[in-house]
Amino acid sequence: MQLNIDNRFTKTLPADPVLDNTRRQVKNACFSYVTPKKPRKPEMLHVSPEMLFALGLSEEDATSEAFLNIFTGNSILPNTTPYAMCYGGHQFGHWAGQLGDGRAINLAEVEHQHKHWTLQLKGAGETPYSRTADGLAVLRSSVREYLCSEAMYHLGVPTTRALTLALTGDEVMRDMLYDGNTAYEKGAVVCRVAPSFLRFGNYQLLAARHDEETLKTLVDYTIKCHFLKLGTPSKETYLQFFEAILNSTLEMIIHWQRVGFVHGVMNTDNLSILGQTIDYGPYGWLEGYDHHWTPNTTDTQFKRYRYGAQMEIGHWNLYQLANALYPLIGEADDLERILHSYHEKAKKHYLVMMRGKLGLFVEDKSDTELIGNLESILQLTETDMTIFFRNLSNFSSEASLEGLKIIKDAFYIPNEISSSIKQKWNSWFMHYAERLQKEEVPFKERKKKMNQVNPKYVFRNYMAQLAIDDANKGDFKLIDELFQLFRKPYEEQAEKEKWFVKRPEWARYKVGCSMLSCSS
Ligand code: AMP
Ligand code: MG
Repeated sequence: MQLNIDNRFTKTLPADPVLDNTRRQVKNACFSYVTPKKPRKPEMLHVSPEMLFALGLSEEDATSEAFLNIFTGNSILPNTTPYAMCYGGHQFGHWAGQLGDGRAINLAEVEHQHKHWTLQLKGAGETPYSRTADGLAVLRSSVREYLCSEAMYHLGVPTTRALTLALTGDEVMRDMLYDGNTAYEKGAVVCRVAPSFLRFGNYQLLAARHDEETLKTLVDYTIKCHFLKLGTPSKETYLQFFEAILNSTLEMIIHWQRVGFVHGVMNTDNLSILGQTIDYGPYGWLEGYDHHWTPNTTDTQFKRYRYGAQMEIGHWNLYQLANALYPLIGEADDLERILHSYHEKAKKHYLVMMRGKLGLFVEDKSDTELIGNLESILQLTETDMTIFFRNLSNFSSEASLEGLKIIKDAFYIPNEISSSIKQKWNSWFMHYAERLQKEEVPFKERKKKMNQVNPKYVFRNYMAQLAIDDANKGDFKLIDELFQLFRKPYEEQAEKEKWFVKRPEWARYKVGCSMLSCSS
């Protein structure tokens, strides 16, 4: 197995001089060296072929003993020094101080075909940042992270990736519902892959500690390695750096809104500096379209990270990042100007995205109202987001009265649709039909284009639970079936139609399906 190792992070940035694996506050450093825990009985469950090839590895490599050992933490790649990153963050709106990679261990950086990747094991044991926890991950959360990150990639949503999913053979104690009922679960480890795992929190922690020297070193490093186009670091470059992060963060969130993804824990330590979806914890997918929905039971009271708030939270988080970068810039005006541009951009890009979902390609002043009305009607009665938008592409402007028929499969309780709701739908479809008249793209072409942005298959919450239940019993077939399904989420895949269905009733309130805690 040959990987082209190129460790830029550890080579350039200051390391924690302490080598003991003990919990501590790590100052004036960006990371600590730490070795993964040896698994008791490692077993590879799944490998992503796309990621394998992106790293320059072959299918044959993936079946080797060396591959199993490296991606479960059993052995270490030659000439590498694994490490955990030091970062802080705002959790649910409150500054939490130092957090860091508590159970993620970066193995190495790899360069292949001019792309740079960091390999990281999640669930590979304790680090100096593990605080009160064990550094491990259980099978259920690892299956969720593995399948979702690759599904997001195929959906065209910026995301960290996953190379492998493996069992460690260790038992891990968890209190899944935080109700005092602890139980042993199967331990697992996912090898995550991304150009960088830097988060807003890496910069925030250095700024909070007034360590401007390390902050500058880290920002300059980030620009040089990941924002090369910006050129030599200067005050001007720092502002452009911030603007680029603002743009990519917003773009990522708009993709989330497009596919109905709810991250669940948009803390600043869970926001990637590259605008990639990171840290798949108690995330979920909208089934009934509902701006108030969040899957995270830890957030039920205030629903801070609900679907309809994600764009606004993006701004809140960027505000915190701006504060962290401020010491390098020394004046607030330009940072504020960039921050202020967020809302205008958000409105504009959201509109463009929603136009795409509706198959509208020319701009029309009435679109904001048409879309706003649709969002309201969708929430009057439980309506499946994925099925609604997918089926909408069958609507032809010549048949406005057919609208309800076309989308009927999206209603969870069809008998509940009152005549007043039906009237609202008919009226909306009438306006939609009128609006479509202004388009030049013929029906067939529109349908094709709509189907490229409205996925047929998303990783519904209950699907994850089915795969997890089987996996816990030692049956891993469904993991592969879903993995294959999500490789082509926009294609019809007629033989896989059974996954194009509403959430089954049994899953409505089932733990793991629509309700998830942070326990993982
Ligand atoms: P999260 O909310 O999952 O992003 O985690 C917040 C912080 O807790 C991060 O610093 C994680 O590394 C850490 N953390 C979460 N779970 C564990 C665990 N089982 N062991 C050690 N640290 C953890
Ligand atoms: Mg996290």
